Amino acid sequence: MSTEQLSPGTAPPEGPPSPAVIEELVENARAHAAEFDNGDLPLPPRRKLAVLACMDSRLDIFAMLGLGVGEAHVIRNAGGVVSDDMIRSLALSQRRLGTRSIMLVHHTDCGMQVVGDEEFRESLRREVGEEPSWDVPTSMDLAESVRKSMQRIRTSPFIPYTDDVHGFIYDVATGELTRVT
Ligand code: ZN
Repeated sequence: MSTEQLSPGTAPPEGPPSPAVIEELVENARAHAAEFDNGDLPLPPRRKLAVLACMDSRLDIFAMLGLGVGEAHVIRNAGGVVSDDMIRSLALSQRRLGTRSIMLVHHTDCGMQVVGDEEFRESLRREVGEEPSWDVPTSMDLAESVRKSMQRIRTSPFIPYTDDVHGFIYDVATGELTRVT
């Protein structure tokens, strides 16, 4: 297996993914089920916490925060931006499943920063002939984008509990988590 690292904006390797990857994962799931002992966890997250984060594959949210299974909702998308769908998930998380605290995690070297929304939209328009309906705002300034995201959460009428909203930047090179004030 290649250990070559892809920098953001670098094209992924050519060709379709190998079906063997999925078979391997299904086998892993079988082994997981054989040793499974979390069947009695309650539905509401034990820590009353929702974590909003980027989908970046280098962010291991559970390991980073020392969270266990059943302790938090982890809601992820490209950039960890507070989109309408993020709000939908948060609204359900707070109103139906009892979460109260919100932790927002953006990170360095994010693909969203490299690509840029306008460039991405334009490339889609050229390739498929129409623009997507979704809007994904990007910002080159990480702290600023975290602040904007926190503001979107705090001002959403659908999110009832906004006293405990915290923003952070995760450094993918050092593993350090820094609070945005
Ligand atoms: Zn990212």
